[in-house]
Amino acid sequence: MKTIGLIGGMSWESTVTYYQLLNRMARQRLGGLHSAKCLLWSFDFAEIEAHQASGDWQAATDAMTSAAQSVERGGAQCIVICTNTMHKMAAEVQAAVDIPLIHIADATASLVKARDVEKPLLMATRYTMEQDFYKGHLRDRHGINVCIPDDVGRDVVHGIIYDELCQGIISPSSKQKYLDVVQASLDQGADSVIFGCTEVGLLLSQSDLAVPVFDTTELHATAALDFALSG
Ligand code: GLU
Repeated sequence: MKTIGLIGGMSWESTVTYYQLLNRMARQRLGGLHSAKCLLWSFDFAEIEAHQASGDWQAATDAMTSAAQSVERGGAQCIVICTNTMHKMAAEVQAAVDIPLIHIADATASLVKARDVEKPLLMATRYTMEQDFYKGHLRDRHGINVCIPDDVGRDVVHGIIYDELCQGIISPSSKQKYLDVVQASLDQGADSVIFGCTEVGLLLSQSDLAVPVFDTTELHATAALDFALSG
């Protein structure tokens, strides 16, 4: 089994999910006492969020490349960035190490293509929904064209991520707000939903929705374990 290098803490609420999924899947696949070999770099998310909010993406990139080099030095055999947003600097992180980066959008695209949907709704941070690093990756490398909520909807989705989900707050009223955002997009022609933030799955799940759901946390963790168990 190869060692997975996790860059997490963004937020740790979803890094917990990655860690649980990796270990549970390793046990399911290998049986007995097996679990995933991991090295975790976990940031203080307040520091990262301050860079994001001030637009200091260079400082954020420096922090990410340094973390990736640390887990590589520690013996990791791949890099898994446990957040969609911080794939903004995926290319720089990949260039800073000699081990492969398992890209969250590639992991997601595989299932989106397999389910043959036309217009997935991307629910994510404002950075991921509005900038091109993620939508462009899905479009240019995989031919997937996502839609995003309207401005008010984007505000709701982004705000609940930072003000609640990343702080461990799970609220039924926020769940209803998320469902309302989804319904508005379905009314506009969306036919599926990408949980494009690793915390969205803490609030919503496939059982809440009648259309296909793509949970990036689950898909990314699965791709990481596939890599770890590959020959
Ligand atoms: N975990 C979130 C994501 O998947 C948001 C937090 C962050 O900005 O990294 O985008």
